[in-house]
Amino acid sequence: MLNLILFGPPGAGKGTQSTKLIEKFGLTHLSTGEILRNEITEKTPIGIEASKYIDHGILVPDDTVIALITARLVQNGNINGYVFDGFPRNISQAIALDKLLARFDHSLTLLVALEVEYSELISRLLLRSKNEGRTDDASAVVEKRLKLYREVTEPVMCYYKNKNKFISVDGLGEQDEIFAKIVAAIEKYRL
Ligand code: AMP
Repeated sequence: MLNLILFGPPGAGKGTQSTKLIEKFGLTHLSTGEILRNEITEKTPIGIEASKYIDHGILVPDDTVIALITARLVQNGNINGYVFDGFPRNISQAIALDKLLARFDHSLTLLVALEVEYSELISRLLLRSKNEGRTDDASAVVEKRLKLYREVTEPVMCYYKNKNKFISVDGLGEQDEIFAKIVAAIEKYRL
């Protein structure tokens, strides 16, 4: 199995690169942001509750996202592996993910971090807000999300660095070029 966390701040390109990884390695995509947005669209109780957090650029409670991920791992039996995108978002979620994977006799292969500088992230997110109408990409919320990323989410990288399950890739440039770097880094790590 190849179980990856595609990691990086909002706007780093995790969604785009996840799609490519899924195609190449036959993996299942688990994006907590996307799952939560679907719950919101379908107006489920989880979605209604989650939108209160998402609209303010803050994290949805751990129990909620861990339950959503658990349900997907239960549903997906025999597969090649997963790309976790937007999860784990803090150390508690990272610990929960490790335990959860162990419960299914799996383990995390690697965290792949996409590195993109702050000013580039801001312009990408504001553009996404215009193009996709994501309310949490509006300028006031964007800054809050990036601050939260630095303070609460970034430490997840150290957690996996300490387990020697960490690589980082420059997230600036053409999408295909970045993807080639990610694949090369994963393959080198697995040698
Ligand atoms: P994303 O699409 O990953 O940028 O997520 C959009 C929003 O959904 C975030 O700003 C959070 O409010 C919420 N969210 C997504 N993933 C998580 C998570 N793992 N833990 C808590 N909240 C999350």
